[in-house]
Amino acid sequence: MIDHATIDRIFSTAQIYDVVSDFVSLKKRGTNYIGLCPFHNEKTPSFIVSPAKNICKCFGCGKGGSPVNFLMEKEQISYPEALRYLAKKYNIEIQEKELTPEQIAQNTERESLFTINEFAQKYFADILLAKSEGQAIGLSYFRERGMRDDIIQKFGLGYALENPRDAFSKEAIRKGYKKEFLVKTGLTIDSENDYLADRFRGRVLFPVHTVSGKVVAFGGRVLKSDAKTAKYINSPESEIYKKREQLYGIYFAKQRIVQADCCYLVEGYTDVISMHQAGIENVVASSGTALTSEQIRLIRRFTSNITLIFDGDSAGIKASLKGIDLLLEEGMNIKVLLLPDGEDPDSFARKQDASEFITYINEHQTDFIRFKTQLLLEDAKGDPIKRATLIKDIVRSISVIPDITERSAYVRECSKLLEIEESILYNGINQQKQQQREQQVKVANLPTKEINNTIPSEDSVYSFLFDNPSEREIIRCLMRYGEQKFHVGENEVSVARYIIDDLERDQLELSNPL
Ligand SMILES: [Zn+2]
Repeated sequence: MIDHATIDRIFSTAQIYDVVSDFVSLKKRGTNYIGLCPFHNEKTPSFIVSPAKNICKCFGCGKGGSPVNFLMEKEQISYPEALRYLAKKYNIEIQEKELTPEQIAQNTERESLFTINEFAQKYFADILLAKSEGQAIGLSYFRERGMRDDIIQKFGLGYALENPRDAFSKEAIRKGYKKEFLVKTGLTIDSENDYLADRFRGRVLFPVHTVSGKVVAFGGRVLKSDAKTAKYINSPESEIYKKREQLYGIYFAKQRIVQADCCYLVEGYTDVISMHQAGIENVVASSGTALTSEQIRLIRRFTSNITLIFDGDSAGIKASLKGIDLLLEEGMNIKVLLLPDGEDPDSFARKQDASEFITYINEHQTDFIRFKTQLLLEDAKGDPIKRATLIKDIVRSISVIPDITERSAYVRECSKLLEIEESILYNGINQQKQQQREQQVKVANLPTKEINNTIPSEDSVYSFLFDNPSEREIIRCLMRYGEQKFHVGENEVSVARYIIDDLERDQLELSNPL
């Protein structure tokens, strides 16, 4: 663990220009530097480095931040890894912090759980690949499903013996792993008479890897068509495994997600693996749960474009609609692809190669708002109450989209689909946004009484006048709050003064003369 003093030293020593120029060729412009963004494809540079503020930012895709943020994003490394990188670059000796006994215990616990999972993954993979029961049942199951051996090995798939009931636990104890930690990983179940039983028995196993590639949990699929047991069982939550923070396949997908600037989201383990095998590697699964904001942020580290792929006849679509407003709020661009009836990503990927599949996706995916509108519209046929709820629902989805231009495009579209005037939709959106704004204003501690909520379709006015979203937001703040005062440290300044000073200090000018 790196102590705070060292972290402070790293932050105060690391210069954004040094760090970025190791990766990007930069040209001086005013007090800043500009270059081609390393996070998205572009021909004209919009990646700005500000030595004065010691940050960088892309005005195309929005990525950037401090030297540490830049490295985490660019190299796809963790926060401590980025700190170590910088320490090495600037010859800063890292003082490892003295840990309290509790912290040591906690660290050793986490490490022990990961070590056991690693051992378990190898143990189960060995049974699958080299032991007769594993080969006869598990391996032949995977092969029947068309999985290649190299893919089976890449994803570390395994097989857990049906009998004896403690095959794994016994072997782990024999190798010296502690019972306490075996139980905490959930791989072993401690029954009353001190008998250690295996959680996974007679199942093929899918290890779940963290973004940095450590095995954090397992999912086990039963192969017998015995209705008495669940088709899938998973590791329980533990010190290291929080279900809502993990995405199946993210470790194998992350680089391709960055390159393709797009992530496909599917439902199950085998969907991910089959698409991989077909050559589509930028794919992850939320493994049956509705998407969480933690998972979205994980994807966001690599791209803001996501395509949700649903089975042609999936019952899960409507259930998952709710979680999707979360994605919109985070500014993700969401597309939806519905596969033909009777197909899932697994079966579909086995029938075609990568380029055919990708062509199919590109030709058939629709944006999320249109998809949702059509889906709900079908439901609300001839029912005025359902229709009203539907409109409210759509309005709420549109109102959380951060980008104004995008919002107006959706309004136009939905007005056609719903046969309803744009102005009615705008009214609803403005109401929603007003509520959201009041919430934010409360947070920012500005008085709410002077905010005028009667301006009609403010969005369309501003987006017409200013095509640069950042500039538009600056003008909006100037016009709405310009004269209001707030505190910067000891001093009271007006919003207008603050914005103008800030622009001058950075030698920035607005591109729109008006
Ligand atoms: Zn960019």
